[in-house]
Amino acid sequence: MGRELPTDADVVVLGGGVIGLATAYHLARRGLPRVVLLDKAQFGSGSTCKSAGGVRAQFSDEINIVLGQHGLRVLENFAQTFGQEIDLHQVGYLFLLDDPGDVATFEASVALQNSLGVPSRMLTPAEAQRLSPLISTDGLLAAAFSPEDGHCTPESVCLGYAGAARRAGATLLPGCAATGADVDRSGAAPRITAVHTEAGTVRTEQVVIATGAWSREVGGWFGLDLPVEPLRRQIVTTEPVPGLRPDTPMTVEFSSTFYFHNEGPGLLIGMSDPQETPGFKLGRDDAWLPGLIDAMERRAPSLAEVGIAGGWAGLYEVTPDANGLVGTAADLPGLHYCTGFSGHGFLLGPALGEVMADLVQGRDPLVDIGGFDVSRFAGQRLRPEINIV
Ligand SMILES: Cc1cc2nc3c(=O)[nH]c(=O)nc-3n(C[C@H](O)[C@H](O)[C@H](O)COP(=O)(O)OP(=O)(O)OC[C@H]3O[C@@H](n4cnc5c(N)ncnc54)[C@H](O)[C@@H]3O)c2cc1C
Repeated sequence: MGRELPTDADVVVLGGGVIGLATAYHLARRGLPRVVLLDKAQFGSGSTCKSAGGVRAQFSDEINIVLGQHGLRVLENFAQTFGQEIDLHQVGYLFLLDDPGDVATFEASVALQNSLGVPSRMLTPAEAQRLSPLISTDGLLAAAFSPEDGHCTPESVCLGYAGAARRAGATLLPGCAATGADVDRSGAAPRITAVHTEAGTVRTEQVVIATGAWSREVGGWFGLDLPVEPLRRQIVTTEPVPGLRPDTPMTVEFSSTFYFHNEGPGLLIGMSDPQETPGFKLGRDDAWLPGLIDAMERRAPSLAEVGIAGGWAGLYEVTPDANGLVGTAADLPGLHYCTGFSGHGFLLGPALGEVMADLVQGRDPLVDIGGFDVSRFAGQRLRPEINIV
């Protein structure tokens, strides 16, 4: 491991993806002396560095809009704050809409976003094509666009947070899996007493669960049901695309989820596979490619001629309403959780790190995240995020 597991910690952050790393950074920077973060593998190697790196404030849920917009501000200043370049391209996110119901939904979302200061707007199909010339407008009814959205490099964001957290005094241990926890329920107020790891035990009364797609098992150690399922998503990158404009927006056909953004001289392309089933499947396969090719031939026909250069598979951490789980366990005040962002957790990570530091320190977070409490499922108070890719 290279570093020793401390015997005691003020807080143990489980998971070294963007959310855990940002949380550890904010806690250490605020002066908490003994912050420990554990990851069973390398930082970012879960979902964060498998993501497409898309960053945006275009959501349907007010909490996600506020957090996304806050995250954009952090990312805009990331190099100055953390000394780490992240290749942020604010080329905008362009959602292509071919269903009248989706147009109405996006119009309502754009109105909400505008009321919160996000400069998103509705476009005609012809306007959309001027921004993203690779697309066909056949069957399109409208589009939604926000110029401050875009994409950046997840590995660099992880590096920036990990380095800054260590400089602020946090102990970050990659390659150290947590294996369980002790909870003392003998008194009136149950409390966490320790986290077990493959390198020994660390005594602590506060834990942050930021274990992404693996959170359900980890929550179970504390008697907390976090309804998060792993669902494989795949990405391909292409050979160079002739004439590719450097300002091509992140372009998403909302109805199929087919999307692309510039990646070097080529494109990064993704799409959901309706046949995919939950599970910890991390290998690539070709079963999704016929659907992807259909979508490309229909929506971006010239791409059907471009060669595939590479690709990878990763896991979405999916909840029943495709919205995040953030809060403090009702019956275990030292247990905080932040997971289940169902495919938009990378861009929310910078803001969520601040939110989680606030929860650990008993402060009011930058936005009221009460609606993200996991208790919403017990009461069937679902809170769907509609604008997911
Ligand atoms: C193909 C794909 C494309 C995506 N595109 C985007 C996008 O464009 N924009 C966006 O915002 N989001 C995107 N996402 C979603 C995004 O990647 C996730 O929402 C986000 O990375 C979640 O961050 P996290 O820190 O919660 O989880 P992770 O990055 O998965 O981190 C969790 C960590 O916990 C560790 N862990 C698990 N169990 C244990 C244990 N027992 N002990 C110690 N450590 C443990 C894991 O090793 C892992 O590193 C995409 C995801 C995929 C798969």
